[in-house]
Amino acid sequence: MKFFIDDLPVLWPYPKIYPEQYQYMCDIKKTLDVGGNCILEMPSGTGKTISLLSLTVAYQQHYPEKRKIIYCSRTMSEIEKALAELKNLMKFRASELGFTEEFRGLGLTSRKNLCLHPKVRHEKNGNVVDEKCRAMTSGVARRKLEAGDESISLCEYHENLNDLEPHDLIPQGVFTFDDVLKYGQEHKQCPYFTVRRMMAFCNIIIYSYHYLLDPKIADRVSKELSKDSIVIFDEAHNIDNVCIEALSVDITEDSLRRASKGANSLAKKIDDVRATDADKLQNEYQKLVEGLREAEVARDEEQFMSNPVLPDDLLSEAVPGNIRRAEHFIAFLKRFIEYLKTRMRVLNVISETPTSFLKHLRELTFIERKPLRFCSERLSYLVNTLELTEIEDFTALKEIAAFATLVSTYETGFVLILEPFETERSTVPNPVLHFTCLDASIAIKPVFDRFKSVIITSGTISPLDMYPKMLNFDTVIQESYTMSLDRKTFLPMIVTKGSDQVAISSRFEIRNDPSVVRNYGNLLIEFSKITPDGLVVFFPSYLYMESIISTWQSMGILDEVWKYKLILVETPDSQETALALETYRTACSNGRGAVMLCVARGKVSEGIDFDHQYGRCVLMIGVPFQYTESRILKARLEFLRENYHIRENDFLSFDAMRHAAQCLGRVLRGKDDYGIMVLADRRFVKKRNQLPKWINQAILDADTNLSTDMAMAAAKKFLRNLAQPANPADQEGVSVWSLDDVLRFQEQTKGIGYTGHSTDAPTEAIARDTTKDQDEMDYLLDIEQTLYEEARDMEYTAVGAT
Ligand code: SF4
Repeated sequence: MKFFIDDLPVLWPYPKIYPEQYQYMCDIKKTLDVGGNCILEMPSGTGKTISLLSLTVAYQQHYPEKRKIIYCSRTMSEIEKALAELKNLMKFRASELGFTEEFRGLGLTSRKNLCLHPKVRHEKNGNVVDEKCRAMTSGVARRKLEAGDESISLCEYHENLNDLEPHDLIPQGVFTFDDVLKYGQEHKQCPYFTVRRMMAFCNIIIYSYHYLLDPKIADRVSKELSKDSIVIFDEAHNIDNVCIEALSVDITEDSLRRASKGANSLAKKIDDVRATDADKLQNEYQKLVEGLREAEVARDEEQFMSNPVLPDDLLSEAVPGNIRRAEHFIAFLKRFIEYLKTRMRVLNVISETPTSFLKHLRELTFIERKPLRFCSERLSYLVNTLELTEIEDFTALKEIAAFATLVSTYETGFVLILEPFETERSTVPNPVLHFTCLDASIAIKPVFDRFKSVIITSGTISPLDMYPKMLNFDTVIQESYTMSLDRKTFLPMIVTKGSDQVAISSRFEIRNDPSVVRNYGNLLIEFSKITPDGLVVFFPSYLYMESIISTWQSMGILDEVWKYKLILVETPDSQETALALETYRTACSNGRGAVMLCVARGKVSEGIDFDHQYGRCVLMIGVPFQYTESRILKARLEFLRENYHIRENDFLSFDAMRHAAQCLGRVLRGKDDYGIMVLADRRFVKKRNQLPKWINQAILDADTNLSTDMAMAAAKKFLRNLAQPANPADQEGVSVWSLDDVLRFQEQTKGIGYTGHSTDAPTEAIARDTTKDQDEMDYLLDIEQTLYEEARDMEYTAVGAT
């Protein structure tokens, strides 16, 4: 299909398009036209990825000054999916245009996934792969080999790249991970470095958030991306947490021990080098006098570490005198580590700001702030000078150096929390020093400063206005789309009480009350009786899940569920969970049916799709609030209140609801899919407005205060309806548009400059071919709801009569 949005020709690789996809693309185009940022919430399973790609690629090809598209997603499977969609799109464009455009699209992931070296690629641990690779590819390894060191062997896949034109390591086209591995295998060249080096020469790069948001990686990988790139963060509902994690460091006694060991072996190396090649150290000293920018010239693409935060102006400054000499720097680091060790010997929790930490540090050790700021750069430079390749031994030291730089760079937005015991009831000290970033906007600021257009999007990113506040940026468009459907394919409902009318809730005071636990159990039994195939249950935490499962066991509830479905449980161990998921899928496919018990915020809730028979119903047991006694969370809440005027309760509620929405969205992965979404906690009644618009609007008022038996009746009716064969013709013009529908819509909205803001209007306009005003729409909805309630009452009567 080909159509225009304003003057932009869009090639759409399918014969039909969903109305919301069209509106979504209109909004993205508007954002790109004005050169600003946007937040868009697009319902799960409505083809967000292909809409994003079609529009941005069309825009890039039409306005070549938009040089690059940087598409960031969360998981490897999502990145792979985007690459496959892109490949399909470019094939379609070529067939429509009659020629193949000059276009290169690549995806980047870690070495572990892209390595071809026979001795390295089978390593399970990513850090080991990185280290082994560095040992065969760094400039140091090459120099050692040239000097006659026979213990060194270089990676031929890496070496072969040097024989190729640097801007043409791989032909034009779109390469999925499999393609790039295959190409590397055939041409004996390293896929990882091929992609890394070709990033500057491709039209679109698809990779994980961390390559852009984590300054330690971004500086190394994404530095050369041009400023006029279009940046997309897909699945961005957790973007604030990614930003915070990127700048937070946890230090334990063990990491300090390993850091001391690392410092000692560095000192020994320095002595060795002094004995054999004293000039090397003298040269290093001279360069550092000139400033880090001069010193930087010597770095190769595989430098040991990047600085987490060093501002640009510092790079041109001379490195402070007391850490210029290698041995002085090591002594400095050791002093800092010893200081941290003494700080760990406490029996009470301590929470302090970076400023007070630095003051105490200076009073006790005379360590000043300025040399601390240079620590991570200085360490990186020293490792290069000493030509070290086994840098895994120095990871703990690297962490300490990064901490030193961060703590001395930021006065606000961070907190230090020292916890002597792992849990409140522990008696054996196991201290942890959390250096926690509280301000998500710090890590993402360079992205907003550098790139003109940033698109933040997800299936569940409500409430939209929370993100600009937390991340401190302006938007030109914030929009949440509804899902156009010809028949209701998902049934969201709020269950507030059991059949005995006792309220159900995971509120702390009553969550372990036997009647509440029993009612939750009965809800599970009833839904396992009627749900075909897969049923997914989410709990607010592992702790609660464990306690409720053991009570259910003693109440005989699990035995009852067992009659209808297999029961599988998510655990913190990812391998165990993977096995449980596999069994779950087998049971769903072979007709036995299964229940998967999982936790919100866990791996399953974020990354696993339960489409079609794998998830016909999702039960959200309780509101998934964070553990509010966590000191780190308390500090963040205080920071948000004081700096961004976000109240504690607002943030906690927003955070709980975004995770609840993620869990609900797991079972609906397309318009041909169907499922029931049960929110089982009476507190959801008040919080439903914080759900994504497409879910909230689908909750009928009659379904907001149900007891277990009422919920069962509604669910049975829904499943019966969905069991009727659907007529694809009913979808025409309502939930799918042909080209004629698109053109008709464009014609209707031409005069009023509409490009797709109101999300209901277009569907209605096309479906009924008349324009209804809002009052009339509300009236119609009321009637629909009344009819629905009446129908249900009749059903109850009928059931009662029999
Ligand atoms: S250069 Fe490439 S193929 Fe060689 S070890 Fe490193 S990642 Fe593996």
